[in-house]
Amino acid sequence: MCAKTAPSLKYKRVVLKLSGEVLRGKGSETIDAAILERMCEQVKEIHDLGVQVCVVIGGGNIFRGLQGAKRGVDRTTGDYMGMLATVINGLAIMDCLEKMGVKTRVQSAIPMNQIAEPFIMRRAMRHLEKGRVVIFVAGTGNPYFSTDTTAALRASELHADIIMKATKVDGIYDKDPKKHADAVKYDELTFIDALKQRLNVMDSTAFSLCLDNNVPILVFNLDDEHAIRKAVAGDKIGTLVHG
Ligand code: UDP
Repeated sequence: MCAKTAPSLKYKRVVLKLSGEVLRGKGSETIDAAILERMCEQVKEIHDLGVQVCVVIGGGNIFRGLQGAKRGVDRTTGDYMGMLATVINGLAIMDCLEKMGVKTRVQSAIPMNQIAEPFIMRRAMRHLEKGRVVIFVAGTGNPYFSTDTTAALRASELHADIIMKATKVDGIYDKDPKKHADAVKYDELTFIDALKQRLNVMDSTAFSLCLDNNVPILVFNLDDEHAIRKAVAGDKIGTLVHG
């Protein structure tokens, strides 16, 4: 267990999936310093409550393999570029959290000893027990995967209570809320409902990992103040997809 226990919390070990896009501001900056700080404050908030926190960071604000492929970059090469992009974001999060006094460890799925530990499940577990925030970078280390799949994989390996997927929308809707004014937001859904209605919760590889291993997914908007704290306390925010 971590140093400070938090019995009133609904979730005690969480995998927070942050897409790279969340880090991008309205301007041209790939990593907006103010957004980064607000995001890390939210992580610190639940960490201080005693929640064991893993962060899986995406790279979409810098590079995505699929985007590269459209411009003629070999898909596998592009995916490695995307994975390296997640390392840049992960280091930014590490730096920001450490400056706030939160102890962190970065674990990379692609060995790069000078800047991150290799991913070792048991070591990650130990860091969590010692109250360190573990930041997973370089995705799964394999091309043709995503950081959503990384989150599903790490959550399964580490027996996390939930994946919290921060997005730019505040949950899952029956249709695109940007295009349809009458779109209805779901508070809760089962995996089967989401499949039947073909709702795009995560990519299919990530989704089926969560389904098979019964890892609930909370989709929520990080712009909500204290969103993560509310979520770990069990308040109704976003959309919860469960077994
Ligand atoms: N990526 C990959 N394998 C992985 C994780 C990521 O090849 O296991 C590559 C892929 O090109 C992806 C990019 O890294 O597009 C950035 O990750 P992702 O698109 O998941 O980031 P996000 O959309 O969450 O910012």
